[in-house]
Amino acid sequence: MSRLSRRNLLHSALAGGLSLGPAGLVGAQRTDGGSATGASIAPNSAGSPPPSAATAPTAPSQWRNWSGIHTCRPATWHVPGTVDELAELMRRTPGPIRCVGAGHSFTALVPTPGTLLSLDRLSGLRSHSTKDGRGDATLGAGTRLQVTSRLLDAQGLGLYNLPDIDAQTLAGAMATATHGTGVDFGALHTDLLGLSLMTPRGQLPQCSPDKLPEVFAAAQVSLGALGVLTEGTLRVRPRYHLQRRVWLAKTQDLLDQAPALAAKHRQFELYLLPFTGYGAAITHDEVPVGQVQRSSAADEDVLRDLRRLRDWLGRWPALRRWVAQRAIDPNQTEAMTDVSWKLLSTQRPTRFNETEGHVPRERAA
Ligand SMILES: Cc1cc2nc3c(=O)[nH]c(=O)nc-3n(C[C@H](O)[C@H](O)[C@H](O)COP(=O)(O)OP(=O)(O)OC[C@H]3O[C@@H](n4cnc5c(N)ncnc54)[C@H](O)[C@@H]3O)c2cc1C
Repeated sequence: MSRLSRRNLLHSALAGGLSLGPAGLVGAQRTDGGSATGASIAPNSAGSPPPSAATAPTAPSQWRNWSGIHTCRPATWHVPGTVDELAELMRRTPGPIRCVGAGHSFTALVPTPGTLLSLDRLSGLRSHSTKDGRGDATLGAGTRLQVTSRLLDAQGLGLYNLPDIDAQTLAGAMATATHGTGVDFGALHTDLLGLSLMTPRGQLPQCSPDKLPEVFAAAQVSLGALGVLTEGTLRVRPRYHLQRRVWLAKTQDLLDQAPALAAKHRQFELYLLPFTGYGAAITHDEVPVGQVQRSSAADEDVLRDLRRLRDWLGRWPALRRWVAQRAIDPNQTEAMTDVSWKLLSTQRPTRFNETEGHVPRERAA
């Protein structure tokens, strides 16, 4: 068994912390061939690429989300290539109509027996501008976050923040208040400056804090229930580099230090590593553009080791704890420096299910 690394433990903590129990790391079970997170595209069926025609008679009959926990057999799939095509579809298609982004939601927001609508073909950078270190960029709602980052990077721009993965579409991320970490950053929709929303009647109002402000506020996080988001204008900034540091420490020590670390660093995250007595701290801080320092991680290897621990010792928690505490190497550290989007989001090849709860900081342990 290889020595347990922080990143593997971190990964398992994410999956296992939510589903540990008699069944152990339930969330770590693979539901497919194990392709990378970023390769999961929608509409998808067992990882099939999206159909390219506006109406897709050859589309797979079954849709499933990234983790595989939600499936459906829509009567029709549509992948419009233009806003006019979408308007026409909306006017003539009877409900129910559900939008799908990259299919990465853990909740049953997408499944429908009716019409499934993907904006995969309505993606890309439409326009951008910058002035005095501030900028904005308008993108098609079907643009994946990872593509968004690359398109902006090519223009010398960057998003302020990103979630743990960047496979999501802009519309899907907005619709569910997808967020990264950092006390100074809101969820991604708080960077929206304006949006276009296709109504069931095929109308396309432009909304912003000044124009139809109530509609704008509701459409920012709509769970896909308010029409079809076709375009969004985001607040952006000049591209920037971050330094990512990772280290392990005793759980209680990290909990004690957490408020100070959160105040000191641009971003601070803390993951408890079950059965080890340790936690992993991750910080991101801005550094001058130009520096690049990368190190590799063998997440999947160590996750495999943790699964083995679960499989072999799951019935004997005390023994599992004893072994985990000896297998972990608490002196591991990681330091990486790169352009922001390459460090803020990661790959999650192992599929899992997750739920998220929020508690006020002052009420946290
Ligand atoms: C491995 C993994 C890591 C994750 N990490 C994070 C994280 O760090 N932070 C976080 O906050 N979340 C995280 N999530 C959750 C994820 O960000 C959200 O579930 C997000 O909604 C997924 O985007 P999507 O494009 O896959 O949307 P989908 O899951 O396809 O759809 C989500 C919602 O958006 C609606 N929608 C899609 N397109 C449109 C459109 N054009 N117009 C209107 N509505 C539309 C859908 O109808 C649905 O209601 C993670 C998920 C996974 C699988």
